[in-house]
Amino acid sequence: MSCFDGLEFLLDDSVNQLNINLLSRMLGQGRISHAYLFTGSGIENLYMLALSFAACINCPYGGCGNCPVCRTTLEGTHPNILTVEPGGNILRVEEISNLQKFMGMSAYSPGRKICIIKEAELMNKAAANRLLKTLEDPADPESVFMLLSEEISSMLPTIVSRCLVYRWNLEPAREKKEGADFRIMEKYIDEGLREIAAESSIESSLPDLSIRIMEILKKMEEGIKTDLEKEVAVIKKSGYAEDDIERYVSVLKSRHKRQLAKFRNLGISNVFDIISAWLEDIISVKMGSGRERLNFIKNYNYINTNLKKVRMEDIMRLMGNIEKNRMSLGYSINPELALDNIFLQVKKLRNQE
Ligand SMILES: [Zn+2]
Repeated sequence: MSCFDGLEFLLDDSVNQLNINLLSRMLGQGRISHAYLFTGSGIENLYMLALSFAACINCPYGGCGNCPVCRTTLEGTHPNILTVEPGGNILRVEEISNLQKFMGMSAYSPGRKICIIKEAELMNKAAANRLLKTLEDPADPESVFMLLSEEISSMLPTIVSRCLVYRWNLEPAREKKEGADFRIMEKYIDEGLREIAAESSIESSLPDLSIRIMEILKKMEEGIKTDLEKEVAVIKKSGYAEDDIERYVSVLKSRHKRQLAKFRNLGISNVFDIISAWLEDIISVKMGSGRERLNFIKNYNYINTNLKKVRMEDIMRLMGNIEKNRMSLGYSINPELALDNIFLQVKKLRNQE
């Protein structure tokens, strides 16, 4: 599908490739489903993906990316495309009614009518029930719904179960919504780690380093919590219905939880960078490099007198382990445990002498 080409935020990995293959096959066989749910990071990225898929569906050349249908679809201006998004913080029944009206009319142009719902997790109950009816008994059986959500866990299961769900691995987006906080937290990690990198060395006590990192992560956690409390306070004063407030607060909570996990992983991944740089320094000294060639000059004397005889294979194995642990951040492993494990291995390396 050429219309998925050139989407820079789409990571080149097996998950995305599988998604594209599945969608291409469905298109090729004309088995287009009635409802899709795309999830991944960054609502605008998801929106671009949905528009690209919509172009594939309606393009007379199977998604060329260049014809008028493709071009207007990708711009979101094609008359067969309706984009629905929450006005404010909640997706209400009024918005879903507009969608029903659109879907009930005959198509303006050849091709299918496609409705894209942004931030679908923000639907309140009434809106969700209305949408559910439309999904179950569409006015136009040819129409296609594309629901987009970064927070699929906050969506009503009855809606999710009626969609074909595709999870995408997308380049983290810096968007308006979480942009500012995100940058502040990133800066926080950056500064904290720079300090750590400046003050710690391969010789220094590793438990200290571990404690320092946990302190940074804890501060970060508190920052995010305060942030959440502020946002909740604003929403509580908004005059929304009790139900809507509840829904939005639960979405906010899961958004913050996800953010926090992201920062923990980012912080720990950066610590791995520091340790990898130390290991590179050991290799450099072993190979006879002078102090000026090291990542951390302060490591030179210690390595030169204590670590020169550490076996290359042990260093390489530890580097491999660091990469393995880095890859699994965000999946199964507990990041603190991963860090402790790496510290333990560095200690072992030091004690070989
Ligand atoms: Zn085209």
